[in-house]
Amino acid sequence: MHNLANLFFESFQHGVHPPEHKKHTDTLPTQRMPFLARYILPLNQNLGAPPNPIVKVGDRVLRGQPIAEPAAFFSTTLHSPVTGWIRAIGNRRVAEGGFQSAIEIEADPYATQRLDPQPRPDWRKMSRDELAKEVQRAGIVGLGGAALPAHVKYVLREGVKIRTLIANGAECEPYLTNDHRLMVERPQALLQGIEILQTLLGAEQSIIGVELNKPDAIAELRRHILPDQPIRVEPLRVKYPQGDSKMLIKALLGIEVPPGVRSADLGIIMNNVGTITAIADWFEQGMPYIDRRVTVSGPGVKNSANLLVPLGTPVREVLRFCGGLREDTKEVLVGGPMMGVSIASLDAPIIKISGGILAFTAQEADRPVEYPCIRCGRCVEACPYFLNPSKLARLAKARLFEEMKNVGVGECVECGSCTYVCPSGIPIVQLIRSARADIRRRKG
Ligand code: SF4
Ligand code: SF4
Repeated sequence: MHNLANLFFESFQHGVHPPEHKKHTDTLPTQRMPFLARYILPLNQNLGAPPNPIVKVGDRVLRGQPIAEPAAFFSTTLHSPVTGWIRAIGNRRVAEGGFQSAIEIEADPYATQRLDPQPRPDWRKMSRDELAKEVQRAGIVGLGGAALPAHVKYVLREGVKIRTLIANGAECEPYLTNDHRLMVERPQALLQGIEILQTLLGAEQSIIGVELNKPDAIAELRRHILPDQPIRVEPLRVKYPQGDSKMLIKALLGIEVPPGVRSADLGIIMNNVGTITAIADWFEQGMPYIDRRVTVSGPGVKNSANLLVPLGTPVREVLRFCGGLREDTKEVLVGGPMMGVSIASLDAPIIKISGGILAFTAQEADRPVEYPCIRCGRCVEACPYFLNPSKLARLAKARLFEEMKNVGVGECVECGSCTYVCPSGIPIVQLIRSARADIRRRKG
């Protein structure tokens, strides 16, 4: 039974309700994108330190073979998505603009690119630290968007006891449906991953949080949960940004995670449903993280789709597979419309956190004309972190970074709810983002 309170009461305070636009793709089964001739693997695909290459130009590599090893604890392994040859190690274009160090691989046109199951150590006999090492070996990052190496969450402070594992299936960003399709298509793999994590973390219960706009995912998961399994699915009211970890914890458990506190210290670990399924794939099949589920959608795309795309596939090729762009396309985003980034070059590759490719025509892409703030307070009402976005925007414009810190800029998750509601068209989150980038640059 689900908790009816979630249906009738606020799941978390504030937040917004942008149009969902999920109908274009939420019933489309995930297709595998065909293998191509060339792949670009930027090293920097995780928060923290990029991994160090362990291959050289000319080496033969197999699909699933490690090509870069973690450089630190906050770093993870990178694997080849195809069987082929290392053709270059150098700077290549990335989605945010500019160039980054990357490994270029030419696929062997005669290879099957099939990855046979590889045995992994039995997870039932593992400690939590061994779990963390295995997850780092698998190259898995938080797939909800942050790209934190997934193993980092499983190394707990002495004395911390985990009570609840949360599987984040909210997928609250408009247009995106790749988590939705994952839950419909692979419920058993997700439940297997939950069992692995729940056992190794010693959690008493697991909750899968799914918004009500995914009724088939809710039904499919419930159908596969065994009566004695301490796992339940909680349907949630549709609201943005419910997928934010603090908002989902508030929605499901009614617990506020204070600033600077790790949810693990409150006995809670949360992972995206894709992350958890990737963990099952590693332990059950020895499958490292080399294929990304991507939703391709938006009015500028000829054929919307849910795809399984090998990492390193250029965005241009993904769009070509979907029939290309309409002539009046003005902007292509990687990620969702609220938090995604406008892509600087279609040659940029799909990386571990590229969950969406969205194309917009001028009608949706053009920014509204900006007017002065009318002090309506709508941004304050929308901010799930109870910040004053209008003030943050003013300070960001004036480059008053110290003052921004004093009014809580550190807590902003850049969800974009403030920009979405502002009647004056003030690009609040963009101003905050650019001020933060400046603060980071100054720190060096
Ligand atoms: S200030 Fe930050 S957290 Fe608050 S609504 Fe704007 S982007 Fe979201
Ligand atoms: S929503 Fe826009 S106009 Fe209204 S207070 Fe915030 S910044 Fe000002």
